[in-house]
Amino acid sequence: MARRALITGITGQDGSYLAEHLLAQGYEVWGLARGQANPRVSRMRKLLTDVQVVRGDLLDQGSLISAVERVQPDEVYNLGAISFVPMSWEQAELTAEVTGMGVLRMLEAIRVCSGVSRGVPVGSAGQIRFYQASSSEMFGQVSETPQNERTAFHPRSPYGVAKAYGHFLTQNYRESYGMFAVSGILFNHESPRRGAEFVTRKVSLGVARIKLGQATELRLGNLEARRDWGFAGDYVKAMQLMLQAANPEDYVIGTGRMKSVRELVEAAFAAAGLDWERYVVTDQALHRPAEVDLLCADPKKARVQLGWEPKVSFDELVAQMVESDLRLLANGGDPDQDSSWP
Ligand code: NDP
Ligand code: GDP
Repeated sequence: MARRALITGITGQDGSYLAEHLLAQGYEVWGLARGQANPRVSRMRKLLTDVQVVRGDLLDQGSLISAVERVQPDEVYNLGAISFVPMSWEQAELTAEVTGMGVLRMLEAIRVCSGVSRGVPVGSAGQIRFYQASSSEMFGQVSETPQNERTAFHPRSPYGVAKAYGHFLTQNYRESYGMFAVSGILFNHESPRRGAEFVTRKVSLGVARIKLGQATELRLGNLEARRDWGFAGDYVKAMQLMLQAANPEDYVIGTGRMKSVRELVEAAFAAAGLDWERYVVTDQALHRPAEVDLLCADPKKARVQLGWEPKVSFDELVAQMVESDLRLLANGGDPDQDSSWP
């Protein structure tokens, strides 16, 4: 029988790539979607015609219990979150509720629906396997480079703090109830489907607008921040592999290579044959109250234990995003509407 997966955050970047990957592996895929008339649900339905939708919200415990009861999943991937770091300062309490407490609600829904109580060993009762989308933002102000599964956390935003809560809670449910509950500590991963507020997509869209004569400048914040950027399509494969492992463990997922925002900008403008220094304007208002200066993964454990490796290089990723946005805008597409998803 086909394995059945329930994905929260199905309308987001990773939800779409994960759903495609699981469908290709023969899974029956369900997506949890919120809201009465959420336009991102119809955009998702156009791309992922084989995904079945169940209504629910990470703020609503009852809706998560109903979703798990209805879908009866073998695997739950909790990708739903308020995921943009600056937003987490503007709506810190909501971020704590969705990105942090949402993990508790999802774990409780699984625990209650599968009748798991304290001390029951893995495999005997809790058959549902749980994946939590943890983040390299938990490392924040890093104590060592590169960061691995044992590196201490020092989150620098309400988002990072909420993710750390979800991370520890996932470990705690594994230890308290014997649940197969794991976290992937994923470093930044991008694609043509990345939200336009994140720096990679903001840059690829900015380059495309300038190239097509729709804009004359691109305003950015801190150009010196460094990140380990990979391709989302590669990273969702690691999520699935983690849930097939013999034992529930957490893994760091990244490329092991860092680039600065400045290098990102250079590469993106060069991909369109433009000189970035003529167009990029830095704006103090776009700097963050507390910055994460650098993040760089040590993905050795995932390589050795899961056989996972990223395939798409930084230069290929940037070129792919610029090309996609040039095509989108040249065809009159609106990045905030349905057509933004190729
Ligand atoms: P997106 O921002 O693209 O997607 C977030 C998803 O969360 C959307 O589907 C959104 O649905 C959903 N969501 C928001 N609020 C709720 C709610 N109250 N109830 C249910 N769902 C909700 O994120 P990504 O796809 O990029 O990331 C997926 C996950 O991985 C997130 O948890 C993110 O924090 C984490 N992560 C991402 C990294 C990255 O580089 N992309 C790095 C490390 C971790 P809606 O359409 O309804 O708003
Ligand atoms: P994050 O690592 O999850 O916060 O992902 P982002 O893509 O939002 O930001 C990555 C880095 O780019 C951070 O260090 C930001 O400070 C930096 N950055 C510089 N300018 C901008 C900008 O205009 N928008 C965003 N989103 N980030 C910027």
